[in-house]
Amino acid sequence: TNYWLIYQVIAGTLLVIFLLATRTYFISRYNRRLTDKNTQLEALRRQLEQTNTELEFLSTHDPLTKLYNRHYFNRQFVHEHRSETASESSICLVMLDIDFFKEINDTLGHAVGDNILMELSTVLQHCVRESDVVARWGGEEFVILCHQTSITLVNSLCQRIAAAIKDYRFSGDVRLTCSFGIAKLASNEPMQSCFERADKALYQAKALGRNQICIDESNA
Ligand code: GH3
Ligand code: MG
Ligand code: MG
Repeated sequence: TNYWLIYQVIAGTLLVIFLLATRTYFISRYNRRLTDKNTQLEALRRQLEQTNTELEFLSTHDPLTKLYNRHYFNRQFVHEHRSETASESSICLVMLDIDFFKEINDTLGHAVGDNILMELSTVLQHCVRESDVVARWGGEEFVILCHQTSITLVNSLCQRIAAAIKDYRFSGDVRLTCSFGIAKLASNEPMQSCFERADKALYQAKALGRNQICIDESNA
């Protein structure tokens, strides 16, 4: 019997088995790492998606009231204007400002003022139609865009808002009133001009003693 040959065959077989086992070990280790990396990548992708959604929200909304911000409102308003002009429907703009808000801040503090702004935003959103756009124009000033409407309908909307505000108990047991300025967008009127007319009407409401709804009837 050629033992030497048998030993050689056994040694060769063992070497092949060893090499295959080592290869399998490294491949499975590599696969495990790849799976880990893929899991990490997936988590990062989901995080990125969430951050993007948050960024999108921040770029279009006011962080305090969660209403649309001025930037988004301007974009929306221009867009609506174009489509409405095409269908010859009516757009009305309401500018709303809280009366004597500085006094509330001065007597009850900024935090209560912030809560009141949030509460008022909720009141506004409850009063308007789903198709209306409410935005925080800045400070304690809000703007509402109503399309396919009329001055009469928007006037009633403002009366409903004023009544809802009157009945609401705001933070710090505060009773509020607001002043309103309304303007109807004339055909081919630039957005800026309609804003200016609504603002003029709001100024008039303030000058008349506040807690008033004024309409700018002038044709642009
Ligand atoms: P008027 O009836 O003429 O509108 O008087 P007003 O006191 O409401 O108006 P004024 O413009 O003098 O004051 C607005 C105040 O709104 C001043 C500012 O401190 C306050 N304000 C603006 N933004 C915020 C905010 O984000 N949070 C709080 N708490 N207050 C704000
Ligand atoms: Mg004010
Ligand atoms: Mg103001």
